[in-house]
Amino acid sequence: MRVSQLFAPTLRETPAEAEVISHQLMLRAGFIRKAAGGIYSYLPLAWRVLKKIEAIVREEMAAKGGQELAMPIIQPAEMWQETGRWSVYGDEMFRLKDRHNRNFCLGPTHEELITTLVRGDVRSYRQLPLLLYQIQNKYRDEIRPRFGLMRGREFIMKDLYSFDRDEAGLDESYNKMYDAYSRIFTRCGLSFRAVEADSGAIGGSGSHEFMVIADSGEAGIVYCGGCEYAANVEKAELHPISAAAEESMPLTEKDTPDTKTIAALSQFLGVSPEKTIKTLAYSTDKGEIVLALVRGDHEVNEIKLLNKVGCLHLEMANEEAIASVVGSKAGYIGPVGLADKKDIIIVADATVMNMHNAVCGANKPDAHYINVNPGRDFKASIVTDIRLIQESDPCPRCGAPIKTARGIEVGQVFKLFTKYSTALQTTFIDDDGKEKPMVMGCYGIGVSRTMAAAIEQNYDQNGIIWPVPIAPFHAVVVPVSTKDQLQMALAEKIYGELNASGVEAVLDDRNERPGVKFKDADLIGYPVKVTVGPKAISDNLIEVKVRRTGETLYFGPEEYVAGIK
Ligand code: ATP
Ligand code: MG
Ligand code: MG
Ligand code: MG
Repeated sequence: MRVSQLFAPTLRETPAEAEVISHQLMLRAGFIRKAAGGIYSYLPLAWRVLKKIEAIVREEMAAKGGQELAMPIIQPAEMWQETGRWSVYGDEMFRLKDRHNRNFCLGPTHEELITTLVRGDVRSYRQLPLLLYQIQNKYRDEIRPRFGLMRGREFIMKDLYSFDRDEAGLDESYNKMYDAYSRIFTRCGLSFRAVEADSGAIGGSGSHEFMVIADSGEAGIVYCGGCEYAANVEKAELHPISAAAEESMPLTEKDTPDTKTIAALSQFLGVSPEKTIKTLAYSTDKGEIVLALVRGDHEVNEIKLLNKVGCLHLEMANEEAIASVVGSKAGYIGPVGLADKKDIIIVADATVMNMHNAVCGANKPDAHYINVNPGRDFKASIVTDIRLIQESDPCPRCGAPIKTARGIEVGQVFKLFTKYSTALQTTFIDDDGKEKPMVMGCYGIGVSRTMAAAIEQNYDQNGIIWPVPIAPFHAVVVPVSTKDQLQMALAEKIYGELNASGVEAVLDDRNERPGVKFKDADLIGYPVKVTVGPKAISDNLIEVKVRRTGETLYFGPEEYVAGIK
């Protein structure tokens, strides 16, 4: 590729809208352009990086027996209604109707579709296990699309789904993917950590997130210097609560809120005060935390700390604020304040929200939980222990001091068990002749987010420093003067030889000042720059500069190709 023809429009100024480095540099270096909030065009350089990440992903998926397929992006509502997620997914789902007024969505993920697909064609244990994956655009109408490719509304994901006969099989598939993910991010040249995670809205239990360590990361993680323990903050937070769950305590008289609160709540709930009392949570006697409860019978299988909730003080809590937490206004009932205005109660209707969005909270940020089951998950004596884990707190596993870091979630692996196969009747006949639901897992990698994360970890004041395995090109050949025929001829020769030997090179044949070309080369982040100036002609020495180290090396015409490799 000749740079004179390359569509990589570089910018001198940093666009004001870009807050994080990867967004700034991808705009400046001509990798992406915005079409709408969270929706981008990938220009040729970005596309090459994405294809390289995808190639690594494909190799590692294949190595574990993964088979690639392609499912539709447009998905019918019915299968989402069968699993209950049509309402749970809320406003994050892009929805559309066809001309017959039928409901569809743009796939935010594909559990429903693939489970339905497998249901139709897999009948026997002999056809299992199955590891099926695709790499395609996903659509999520994120409440805050930002940071360029890090949180897009259209983004590229690799999603693999595993189908096994039993939990032992699932463990094996899960471990394979865990291993593949470790290999993928290592091969991409990233510094990352796998942390224990909550399984969130997708459900099930047993999950890890792969976090690229970067200060700009939206996720907090904790890890132990003394043992292998590592978790995201939400998961780490649950430790004291899970322990309490085992010795759960029934609600007592003392925990019952005052009559004014009950009256207000019953009005919101539309149920009698008696029923409200039964379904209402309790507060600590310190008045620090008030739990909210949900009405109806609930069978809770997970609780989750909603991090970064922000201001949910009584005065400020409103429908929008709650909706931003629970992801949907549907089923939301309302915040209720205690008489003294110290505490708030937030109630979400679990029967409508399918148990995923029942919220409880405190009158402070970062202390809100969903899917709570008060008698089980909390008791007054330990509620006050809930706080964000901090640097130097004891490791929940070994007691050594905890360390904290910020991370970018580039991938996540989940054990789904039979959540979807049960809901969608995806069964097989086992070798004992019995019909059983398939045991599933799902495994996602944000391909476009991985590209952004790579930049967050690899840059300097002059621009991007691509890790070689995912660099758009390996080398740029820069003739100092394009008017100098000897220089141009040598540059052409080097350019040809590099490409012939498997080093992907571009030739900066633009009639520009050398300073401009060098600046662009640094900004775009080619790992190697070959400068062809007067010295190359007079001394027969080829100057090779390494972007990452700034080191300059000189090679003879017979050695430079090997030197670069
Ligand atoms: P997040 O917590 O950042 O919202 P998620 O947990 O909702 O991500 P998953 O459902 O686990 O995302 O999807 C698998 C992977 O897809 C994520 O690990 C991430 O790398 C990527 N991903 C998710 N949402 C986005 C997005 N809006 N833009 C870019 N990549 C994304
Ligand atoms: Mg998300
Ligand atoms: Mg996440
Ligand atoms: Mg995730």
